[in-house]
Amino acid sequence: MKIHEYQAKHFFGAAGIPVPREVVASTADEAVAAAAEIGLPVVVKAQVLVGGRGKAGGVKKADSIEDVRKAAGRILGMDIKGLKVRKVLVSECADIDSEFYLGFIVDRTRRRPVMMASAAGGVEIEQVAKDSPEKILKAEIDPGVGLLGFQARNVGMAMLGDARLARQFAGIAQKLYRVFVEQDCSLIEINPLVKLADGSLLALDAKINFDDNALYRHKTHEDLRDMSAEVEAEVEAKEAGLSYIKLEGNVGCVVNGAGLAMATMDLIKRYGGEPANFLDVGGSSSPEKMKTAMRIILSDENVKAILVNIFGGITRCDDIAHGLLLASKEVDIKVPLVARLTGTNQDKARKLLQGTDVTPAATMSEAVKKAVELAGGVR
Ligand code: GDP
Ligand code: MN
Repeated sequence: MKIHEYQAKHFFGAAGIPVPREVVASTADEAVAAAAEIGLPVVVKAQVLVGGRGKAGGVKKADSIEDVRKAAGRILGMDIKGLKVRKVLVSECADIDSEFYLGFIVDRTRRRPVMMASAAGGVEIEQVAKDSPEKILKAEIDPGVGLLGFQARNVGMAMLGDARLARQFAGIAQKLYRVFVEQDCSLIEINPLVKLADGSLLALDAKINFDDNALYRHKTHEDLRDMSAEVEAEVEAKEAGLSYIKLEGNVGCVVNGAGLAMATMDLIKRYGGEPANFLDVGGSSSPEKMKTAMRIILSDENVKAILVNIFGGITRCDDIAHGLLLASKEVDIKVPLVARLTGTNQDKARKLLQGTDVTPAATMSEAVKKAVELAGGVR
């Protein structure tokens, strides 16, 4: 789960990381009032859950109150990479000497957190990693002891070339790491971390992604969620008790159990196809839930065939079949549907589906092959 810059800055400020004075605003009037409070000049920044706002025209400096009104008016309602701007952050304008990058991620290969820092700040770090990976300094962190002072100072010294700045940098890095751990983040980033003309460091931008699997430990994080930025179908699925993740392929998948769903996607790729989604209908799959699942999958226009792969344990195959029949009555299923239903009440299910448009399959491989073929064949 991603949160906005202004929300992330609250965590930074509370941890003692230096941030600019700033106020969030939803209207041009509010932005003007915020600027009057902060003092000119200010920077007006779009609050959207994507990077590269600066390049898209979502970050504007304003020297006068009229400029603030104009900038806020222009940025509010703006579309940035498909997301509508509903709020702006009015921020004290920093007098920048140079821009740096500082972030923490969980490195799955190394199975530990890694600190990344770079003198190539202000640009997207993914781009730096691609074009000039040698410009990124890294420190691996032993999660048992945390980020040690010397590690942070070494990186700071290599990046800033000055002992006083390196100590300041290390202080910020250790505070940022504490937020990263305490708030169960999968990513935390300051880009740019700036050196001001007066020689102090300041977190000018902030990015936090929370680890979804740890959200249950932070009840208040849910209040920070921006529904308008979530994939609509994923929200609807969540409300219906389905785990749905939209992907880029054309074979829609309805599967029970996360493990079988993963195996199904693997097999689709094995036979040269591309899954359009991950969907786990869960253990108890009522016909109603199946109908919702079909509707959600069909809301993705890339879907050219649907594969239903059910291993019936607690889930009863006849429930699934009833659900498919209900769905075909109430939802317009315009694409071919292949079903492999095996386990509890499989015979009942097969009888129910006889004479319908559903293509039956006896095994998982057969079902996958058929679905890939019906979706338009191998890549
Ligand atoms: P992003 O493009 O979405 O990453 O937005 P940022 O908040 O990182 O801003 C992009 C760029 O705008 C920064 O890298 C700075 O160069 C510039 N910028 C942002 N705030 C200020 C500021 O207060 N003063 C100055 N001089 N430049 C700023
Ligand atoms: Mn940035």
